Amino acid sequence: MSAGRVPVMIPWLGEEEARAASDAVLSGWVAQGPRVAAFERAFAERVGAEHGIAVSSCTTALHLSLVALGIGPGDEVVVPSLSFIATANAVRYVGAEPVFADVDPATGNLTTLTVDAVHTARTKAVLAVHQGGVPADVHALRAACADWDLPLVEDAACAIGSTVGGKPVGHGALLAAWSFHPRKVVTTGEGGMITTDDATWAARLRRLREHGMNASAAERHTSEKPVLEQYLEVGYNYRMTDVQAAIGLVQLGKLDAMIARRRELAARYDTLLRDVPGLTPVRDPAHGQSNFQSYWVLLDEEFPVGRDELLAALAGAGVSARRGIMASHLEPAYAGHPSAPLPVTERISNDSLILPLFHTMTEAQQDRVVAALAAARAEQARR
Ligand SMILES: *Cc1c(COP(=O)(O)O)cnc(C)c1O
Repeated sequence: MSAGRVPVMIPWLGEEEARAASDAVLSGWVAQGPRVAAFERAFAERVGAEHGIAVSSCTTALHLSLVALGIGPGDEVVVPSLSFIATANAVRYVGAEPVFADVDPATGNLTTLTVDAVHTARTKAVLAVHQGGVPADVHALRAACADWDLPLVEDAACAIGSTVGGKPVGHGALLAAWSFHPRKVVTTGEGGMITTDDATWAARLRRLREHGMNASAAERHTSEKPVLEQYLEVGYNYRMTDVQAAIGLVQLGKLDAMIARRRELAARYDTLLRDVPGLTPVRDPAHGQSNFQSYWVLLDEEFPVGRDELLAALAGAGVSARRGIMASHLEPAYAGHPSAPLPVTERISNDSLILPLFHTMTEAQQDRVVAALAAARAEQARR
């Protein structure tokens, strides 16, 4: 047996990130400062947006996006239940109610039809997720939201480098929220970003992340004259540090290589998994390309091994897989929360698993994953 476990994900970090972080520390400026500003510019440019506002996480990016839209108590926001729970929680933070919509079976994303089935007169926004990096059909969703007169916020936590119609996810987005958690493609340890083309929102979001202050600490520090700041509204401390941004700038420079490798490994999985009948892998949708932040397989009804049993068999073979994307409405935090039936969400959440995929993954490691799946299947078929 080959040595070592195959992890589900490891970030691709090295000497360059370590040096950049070290330079930031030695510069004496470790809080939000020039490196954050440079990271914001580089990131916005990469995703085709006018403005980037760096924050402490995607969760806080989602929270501030909803604050900027003026959403509050009595309002509803349509979200997929099939998402990391932060998507729904952000709606709760502003006192509004998440309304769970079902998803497309192929992409795991909201569609105009699933949103149309649940939005009401109290709906004030739609929060769509690009799940696991699979781009949502934002052209269709934006058109439908324009008809309904609802803003579309994009949870792009997983989708840096994914594309829709040849353009990066983020291009043309009203407000998009991004994550730099190590489980995502580009990491700063923890961290997030909001992108938008709207200068007024950008200015307000910068203020909201920094206690509602009208002049940032960095501006005050670099000004020759004393700057007396004012606190224009109740804000938050959702800042990113310059140490994180220094790492992020290096990571962003590696993004093209990361996407290319992830797509190469995903294509190789597709080929290898043809020898394990009964598993349907996630694929690029017709309207765009995934960065394969998550590579999941859906177990067909006739697959002989249950999902949890398969996870256990993989673990026994030294392979760390994960259950599929969670269904937020089934978590205790949402017990008693009214929801329409969500059959596709429950099917994907219950019957899929996320396979290991990371930049430095070797073909031998990938072969081990597929061999472990095939062995579990063969074992059960013999019983
Ligand atoms: C990871 C994730 C988040 C939360 O990101 P953080 O940066 O950890 O706050 C939100 N939404 C989705 C879809 C995610 O996958």
